[in-house]
Parts: sequence; C-alpha cells; structure tokens
Amino acid sequence: MDDWELEKKKQVIGLYGEMRLSMKLHELGWQVHRAYIDEGIDFTITKYWCSKCKEYHNQWIRYGMHSGKKHKCVTNLCDKCRTTELQVVSRYLQVKTSEGKPTDKDDVRKFSFHPKIRYDMSDDVFYVWIAVFDNKDEKLCHFYIINTKDVQKFDNILLPTYQVTDNQKTELPIRNDGVVLKKGITQSDGSKYNYSLFNTRFYNDFGILEK
Ligand SMILES: [Zn+2]
Repeated sequence: MDDWELEKKKQVIGLYGEMRLSMKLHELGWQVHRAYIDEGIDFTITKYWCSKCKEYHNQWIRYGMHSGKKHKCVTNLCDKCRTTELQVVSRYLQVKTSEGKPTDKDDVRKFSFHPKIRYDMSDDVFYVWIAVFDNKDEKLCHFYIINTKDVQKFDNILLPTYQVTDNQKTELPIRNDGVVLKKGITQSDGSKYNYSLFNTRFYNDFGILEK
C-alpha cells in the first residue's frame, strides 16, 4: 500500500469509528453535533435535564391553533412535568480512532494514542479512544472513555515535551476482546502509572458522560 492509500484507509477507519460512536451515543439519548473544523474537539453532545423530575427529558411540543390551522410549537419545558425549564447538558469529546499495528500475536494489536489536547480541561471534556479490530466478517469497536482529568493517572503530563504530541505517546497492546494487556509502569521519579484503569474504568464507560 502506498502513502496515499494508507492515508485514505486511515481516514475511512476514522470515519467508521466516529459513525459507530455516534450511533451508540444516539441510542443513549444524546444529540450528537460534529465539529465542522477540527480544533481538537470533534463532537459536542447534548441532552436535556429536568431538575424537577431529576431525569433527562425531551422538550415538550405544544400544539396550538392559529388562524384556523394547527401549529407545532417546541417549548423549553420538560415533556413529562410540563412546568420546568430544561437544562442543556453538554459534553465535549475528542475522538481518536485507530486500527493499531500487528504484533507477534494474532489476536493482539498495538495502539498508540496521542491526543491533541492533554490538559485537564474540566469535567465536561472527554477523550474517546476507539480501537477498531477489522475481523473477517465485521469490524469490532472498543471504546475507552476518559475524562481529561484522569490522563495524569496513566501519563506524565508534567513533561515539558508533553504537548509535542509525537514525542510522547501512550502505546498499549490491546487484545481482540478489548482487554488492555499493559499493566503499568514506574517512572524514573518513582511515580506509577496504571494502565489497568483502561480495563476497570474507561472501557465502554458511557456512564461517565451522564450528569
Ligand atoms: Zn420534568
């Protein structure tokens, strides 16, 4: 495969991961908005929260008559209690999809993730890392959902080179079934990084996006 074909394949895998992610988020009741220009945040997702019902609800659609015609009016009120203004809950996602590289084991591939933004960006900003396994009959997608504040648990964000994305990347061997095989490392300064969080906390953790 030449460079051009390789680049095209990468782009297709990226779109595939984003499509699968969008479908999953939609199933979970999120509206998915895609960034038009890539500035680091790829998706903004929103849901409506009713502080009275303490649940997510849709906007109440009121029908009224006007000049003899039935009119549809979208309100900002909860469609259950119909009295409370809904709050918009927003989350910002930086999405990275990768197919990884082959290893000496058939069912293990090596993934390197180097996010563009690596600061602690507050509670509303997340990374979604998608590992795609291209099996014969279907592509498998494993999602790892990480709040930006948790990056320091497995990466050293204090390194001066940290923002230079290619200088430091987290490389993880991942098995077909989504299990991250790297346990953790001890840095030269004695600090420990724990990759097992990828299995125990980040894996498919769509719940962390909720209020
Ligand atoms: Zn309500």
